[in-house]
Amino acid sequence: MAAFCKGRYRCKRQLVHQILTRGLTGKYDYDLVVVGGGSGGLACSKEAAQFGKKVAVLDYVDPTPKGTKWGLGGTCVNVGCIPKKLMHQSALLGAAVKDARKYGWNIPDPITHDWPTMAEAVQNHVRSLNWGHRVQLQDKKVKYFNMKGSLVDEHTIRGVSKAGKETLLTAANIVIATGGRPKYPVNIPGAMEHCITSDDIFWLKESPGKTLVVGASYVGLECAGFLTGIGLDATIMVRSIALRGFDQQMANLVTDYMESYGTKFAWKCVPKKVEKLSSGALQVTWEDTGSRREEQDTFDTVLWAVGRAPETKTINLENVGVALNKESGKVIVAADEATSVPHIYAIGDIGEGRPELTPTAIQAGKLLARRLFNASRELMNYDNVPTTVFTPLEYGCVGLSEEEAEKRHGKDGIEVYHAFYKPLEFTVAERDASQCYIKVVCLREGDQRILGLHFTGPNAGEVTQGFALGFRCGATYHHLLDTVGIHPTCAEEVTKLHITKRSGLDATVTGC
Ligand code: FAD
Ligand code: NDP
Repeated sequence: MAAFCKGRYRCKRQLVHQILTRGLTGKYDYDLVVVGGGSGGLACSKEAAQFGKKVAVLDYVDPTPKGTKWGLGGTCVNVGCIPKKLMHQSALLGAAVKDARKYGWNIPDPITHDWPTMAEAVQNHVRSLNWGHRVQLQDKKVKYFNMKGSLVDEHTIRGVSKAGKETLLTAANIVIATGGRPKYPVNIPGAMEHCITSDDIFWLKESPGKTLVVGASYVGLECAGFLTGIGLDATIMVRSIALRGFDQQMANLVTDYMESYGTKFAWKCVPKKVEKLSSGALQVTWEDTGSRREEQDTFDTVLWAVGRAPETKTINLENVGVALNKESGKVIVAADEATSVPHIYAIGDIGEGRPELTPTAIQAGKLLARRLFNASRELMNYDNVPTTVFTPLEYGCVGLSEEEAEKRHGKDGIEVYHAFYKPLEFTVAERDASQCYIKVVCLREGDQRILGLHFTGPNAGEVTQGFALGFRCGATYHHLLDTVGIHPTCAEEVTKLHITKRSGLDATVTGC
C-alpha cells in the first residue's frame, strides 16, 4: 500500500493503520526503499531489483538559493563529475587548439570561446542522462517517486511531492543515500545573497566572467582550472594550503602549473564580505592573513567551494534513532553500511568517513543490495581508493601520500622513486613540462611493496586507473620494473622509475 493522504489527520490514521497491519502481517509495501537517487541510491536500487525484489527510490532536489535545480541522478550527473569533466574537456581543447598551430593547423586568431554554446551542450547531455536514469529504473521495475523523503519510523518513509502531496511507504529495509550540498560560509555578509556554488556554475546560461573561487580543494581547483582554460579571469582564494590531505609536493605542482597557465592565487587570504555595486559587479573584501592587510577587488561572479554539508538535517534521522556524528552531521555507519537502527543503512557521501566519490558510492550500493538480497557477504573495501583531480594538469593518485607513508613507516622505512618527465605531446607544442612528475612511494624493505603512486600529466585518470589494479593486487616496486611499458606513452614512465629521492640524483628523464 502506497496510498496518498490529503491531510495531516488522514496521514496519521493511515500510518496507525499501516503500523498495526504490519504488526499483524509482517508485510511491507517494499523490500527496499532508497531515499536519494544519486550515484549510490540508483546503483543500490537497481541491483536489488535484479534479484526480483520490490524496490522504490525517492529523489528530490531542493533548488539552490539562486533557484538552480536539476533532474534525477544526483550530484555526479547534474552538478559534479559529468558537467565538470565536460567543461574540463572544453578547456583542454582550448589548449589543444593552441598546440595545433605548432602541429601545422592554420587556426585564425584570436580563438574565442562561447560559454552559452558549451553550457547548452553540457546541459543537454546531462538532461539525456536524467532521462536515461528514469528509463533504467522503469526497465528494472524500480518505482521512482519524485518526492522528498523523511523517516517516520524504522520501516516507514514519508514522501512529499513538490505540490505538497504526501505518500507513506513501508519497507523491510531502508537505505539513506541523500548525499550532500555545497556549504556557504557563515558570518560573511553577502555570501549567500550574491554568490554561487558548484550547484549553480554548470547551469549558468551566460558566462560567469571574472570569477573568484573561494576554497582550494578538488572543487575549487577544478572549477578555477576550467574557467581559466576557457579564457576567463579566475582567481582562487586559499586560506591555508591547496588540496589538503593530498601529497603536498604533488599539490604544489598542480597549483604551480595552474599559476603558470594564468590562474591567479590569493594565498593565505580569507574573505570578509561581498557587496553588490550599482554596476552589478561584486566587490569582495578579504584579509591577507600574512600581512594582516585588508584588500578589495571586484568580480562578476564569486563561487564558494568551501566544502559540502551532508543532507541529513531534514530526514528526521535522529528522531528515529539513527546516530549522526555531531561535528560533521554525517551518518555513523558500520563496515556493512548499517546505521545504529536495524534495517536502516546509509551509503555514499552521507556516511561518516567514506570517500566522497561516485565509484565508491556505486560499489557500496551494489554490494549492500547483494548482501541484503543475494546471500553475499562481501563488504566494500574503502582502502586505497584511486582518485584524480581534473585540474589543467591532471593529478591522479592511489594509496598513501609521501607524508602519510613517512608518518606510518618512518623516513628510513620508505623508498621514493621519482621522475620529472616530458610528455611527447608537449615537445612539438613547446609546452613547459616542469610539473609533469611521477612518484612511487614504496616500503624500503623486502620486495618494496608500493604504498602510494602519484602522477601529474595528461590523462592522469586513465593512467592511474590502470595502476590501481596493480596496487589492489599488492604490487611491489619489482613488479613495476618487470612490467613492459607501452611506447610512447606517459604511463610507461611509471614502469621506468629508477632514481630514488634519497640519492639526490637529478630525476629528469632524458632520452626516450
Ligand atoms: P548524490 O549523488 O549527491 O545523490 C543524492 C541524491 O539524493 C540527490 O539527488 C539529492 O537531491 C537527493 N536527496 C537529498 N535529500 C533527499 C530527500 N530527503 N529525499 C529524496 N531525495 C533526496 N566524484 C568522482 O568520483 N569524480 C569526480 O570527478 C567528481 N567530481 C565532482 C565535482 C563536483 C563539483 C562535486 C560537487 C562532486 C564531485 N564528485 C566527484 C563527488 C560525487 O559527485 C559524489 O561523491 C557522489 O555524487 C555521491 O553520491 P551519493 O549517492 O552519495 O549522493
Ligand atoms: P573540501 O572539504 O575538500 O575542501 C574545502 C576547501 O575550502 C578547502 O580548501 C578549505 O580550506 C576551504 N575552506 C573551507 N571553509 C573556508 C572558508 N570559510 N573560507 C575559505 N576557505 C574555506 O571540499 P570540496 O568542496 O572541494 O570537495 C568535496 C568533496 O567532493 C571532495 O572531498 C571529493 O571527495 C569530492 N570531489 C571529487 C572530485 C573528483 O573526484 N575529481 C571533484 C570534486 C569533488 P582548508 O584546507 O584550510 O580547510
